Amino acid sequence: MRGYVIFPMVIFLGAAPAWAITLAQNGKSEYVIVKPEKCAADLQAHLAQITGATLPIQTDAAPLPRKAIVLGNARYLDELGVKPDWKALGDEGYLIATRGDCLVIVGGPVRGTAYGVYAFLDERLGCRWFTPTVSRIPKRSTLRIGHIDETYVPPLLYREPFWVEARDQDWNLRNRMNTSWIVRLDEAHGGCFLYWGVHTFAQFVPPQTYFATHPEYYSLIDGARRHETAQLCLTHPDVLALITERVREVFRSDPNARVVDVSQNDCFHPCQCAACQAIAKAEESEEWPTRSARNFRTVSWARWPISTRARPRRRLSRATTSPRVCAASSAVSRTPSTAAPAIATRPSWAT
Ligand SMILES: [Zn+2]
Repeated sequence: MRGYVIFPMVIFLGAAPAWAITLAQNGKSEYVIVKPEKCAADLQAHLAQITGATLPIQTDAAPLPRKAIVLGNARYLDELGVKPDWKALGDEGYLIATRGDCLVIVGGPVRGTAYGVYAFLDERLGCRWFTPTVSRIPKRSTLRIGHIDETYVPPLLYREPFWVEARDQDWNLRNRMNTSWIVRLDEAHGGCFLYWGVHTFAQFVPPQTYFATHPEYYSLIDGARRHETAQLCLTHPDVLALITERVREVFRSDPNARVVDVSQNDCFHPCQCAACQAIAKAEESEEWPTRSARNFRTVSWARWPISTRARPRRRLSRATTSPRVCAASSAVSRTPSTAAPAIATRPSWAT
């Protein structure tokens, strides 16, 4: 773990005297941390910095201690009357609750408990991890907390700041990022939400494979087809079929894939063919041909979204075209979403 810049500060944890728990008093604590989840040592280190007290860590093999911070799915939950809704928590949701003299932090099996620990340090105790080397850890030799009964599930499936500092594994976990692109978080940091991308047109329809025999798959620019610094002809049915199959392959071959990105290459030069431009002109946006590709037969993976990029000339404007939402395909193994929205209108350019 890195060094911290520590600033003294006053923490307002609730209206006195309604304290539920005194975790530390005058730099000493009677509490233990149970059970040794991966984040227990970091919780111990932060509480030591805040209070001066180093809480021991022990397993849940012994009877429930009188004063404990209980982490994860320990066997004490029933005894404490804590009944997490595991289905609702999912992989990353968490529950923080005070029960008697105990504090319970428990979450979904992937990153939930760790997120609960860092949310407690962040939102309840005032810790901030601005960068991997600049943090603010308050000092408080007597640390009291009020009653807590909080459940939280991150509303965003994928949270990744595309930022150089965000390459740090500890920083990501502490700030509840499930980064996979700028750095793939390792198991010790909870793993990541695997985002497969980005700028994938050339990967889906590789010019080295297709351009010689099918130049019509690529952008028409000033009367000639080209693939260098250009996009795809997104209204060509073969192109959409190739994209669909490639997306399908990604989900089949990588069981950890959660989002596949269907987006233009990292350059300009959208296709100028009549069919592509008819859509772009009607919508005043080059995003719409991309959207047609993204929606093309993709609802089969409705549980695992398809993403795209926002770029100049990719702005969403006049929504005169309804996105296509088609029926689920039985050709894929994933269970389609039963909550898929109904078909609104089916654009003529979507197959
Ligand atoms: Zn075109």
